Amino acid sequence: MPLLIFMIGTCFGSFISCMSHRYITHESILGRSHCDYCGHTLHVLDLIPVLSYILLKGQCRYCHHKLNKSLLVHELMWTPCQGH
Ligand SMILES: [Zn+2]
Repeated sequence: MPLLIFMIGTCFGSFISCMSHRYITHESILGRSHCDYCGHTLHVLDLIPVLSYILLKGQCRYCHHKLNKSLLVHELMWTPCQGH
C-alpha cells in the first residue's frame, strides 16, 4: 500500500510539474510530452515518474542532454511522508 501511495504521489507531482511548465512556456496542455532540448516525443516508458529519471540516469534517451534535477524534485514533492 505505501508503494501505491508513493506512485500516485509521484504521478500527481509529475502532472502538476508538466502543467506548470506548459503554462509558463505558453504550450498547449494537450499533446504528447516531449524533450525540451531535442523535441523528440517521449515514449511511455520515459514517463514513469522517478523510475524513468533513475533508469535514464537523468538524461534524455534520444539526445542524451542532462535533464534538470528539479523535475525529479517536483515529482518527489507530492509524495506523502510515511508515518505522519
Ligand atoms: Zn532530448
